[in-house]
Amino acid sequence: MRKIVVASLPGLLLVAIASMASGQGRAVDWEKEKAEMLQHYRALVQIDTQYGNETKVAEYLKKVLEAEGIPSTTFAKDPKRANLVARLKGNGTKRPLLILAHTDVVAVQKEKWPVDPFGAVMKDGYIWGRGTIDDKDKLVSMLITFILIKRSGAVLDRDLIFLAESGEEADPTGVGINFMVNEHFDEINAEYAITEGGTARLENGRLTVVQVGTTEKVPRRARLVATGSSGHGSVPRIDNPVVHLGVAVAKIGTWEPPMHLNETTRTYFEKLAGISPPDKAARYRALLDPARAKQVQRYLAENEPAIYSMLRTSVVPTMLKAGVGANVIPSEAEATLDIRALPGEDIDEFYGEMKRVIDDPAVKIVPIPSTRPEAPASRLDTEMYRTIERVSQRLYPGSVTLPAMSTGASDMAQLRAKGIPSYGLGPAVTEEDRAQYGAHSDVERLLESSLYRFVEFTWNIVTEVALKK
Ligand SMILES: [Zn+2]
Repeated sequence: MRKIVVASLPGLLLVAIASMASGQGRAVDWEKEKAEMLQHYRALVQIDTQYGNETKVAEYLKKVLEAEGIPSTTFAKDPKRANLVARLKGNGTKRPLLILAHTDVVAVQKEKWPVDPFGAVMKDGYIWGRGTIDDKDKLVSMLITFILIKRSGAVLDRDLIFLAESGEEADPTGVGINFMVNEHFDEINAEYAITEGGTARLENGRLTVVQVGTTEKVPRRARLVATGSSGHGSVPRIDNPVVHLGVAVAKIGTWEPPMHLNETTRTYFEKLAGISPPDKAARYRALLDPARAKQVQRYLAENEPAIYSMLRTSVVPTMLKAGVGANVIPSEAEATLDIRALPGEDIDEFYGEMKRVIDDPAVKIVPIPSTRPEAPASRLDTEMYRTIERVSQRLYPGSVTLPAMSTGASDMAQLRAKGIPSYGLGPAVTEEDRAQYGAHSDVERLLESSLYRFVEFTWNIVTEVALKK
């Protein structure tokens, strides 16, 4: 392949590959870029941001951007937990594109790690550390994409906004996406957003499935509160709240709410059936047929609980609280339910259904205020989704692109609720990595090669959606 040098800067050579005719800033020498990606990635993992200290990351990013001649602004509700925003101006033909990643990480139990969780240790072809897959991989991918586009001098059809946000993992005081959406929405308002929330499957070194997050379940937790009369433990009472609560928890915990598919999950199961071994494929196809869907529920509940959860609003008892002494009947007992509602679920009606299932006036359902807004799914017929699909096909021939509904929750909920269709991406991982080294697990790691491929993937999507055609 013939190479043409289009720009040359210290420490970097941008080359346009002749076969990619569309020109402007269209190609990068990815081999040369690896060192810079790795350097920033490791440096970011080495900043310990367990539920805080995101300002340190913002300061690091500010310096990196400054060196590229890109001004940035920090927005901090809590001085230690700043968000950073930078913008490359476009010609205004289209509305902006927002690329974002969160800068905080979840806690570590140091003794579980074979390496320093904040060492960004390189071993066996992997980079190990808290945040390597959640979310400093996306952070570096968005950063490098942003910088490369700036360096290329390409003309943009739309503004490109880079947001490094704090407080995604736990944000009781609203320092992260809630702060940006409520107080500084003009800074991040966009036609589309891309961020964490997807993944890709690596099988025998080949990337086979690209999963794009297009919607997610909504956390709608509630408490069950049983009340009765207190008394001496030696005297049984019919209204003992511990007994009433126990029965209610058993009823609600074994109840199977009705199944519903939406555009995302229907497409997901259709496509998943197409690439699965015959027994699995038959089960996924059965889900698409109301007459047969019932038959496979038990199997999925037992063997594929994550798939089972995608089919319905789920109710999972997670905490119990009752009693002060072995010989004291308490007057109150309570359970916490982690309810994850399907998008569009009428939650009041759902609580009403729960009440009928529990069927006990001594037990009340008390909703816990939701931490995430209800939001419509991001559509599959947009320029952004189609571009993700096209780029996946081009970079990973023969792979399948699946839209996916997360059973968890992310900051895309707030963006979607403000009218920004948001799409979740992620680097390629093996089955072993997914099972043992995933986000929030005791030990997190990412294949070095996956990091590089993911940056290239992100860059291709962003250039195709943002650069002047
Ligand atoms: Zn995350």
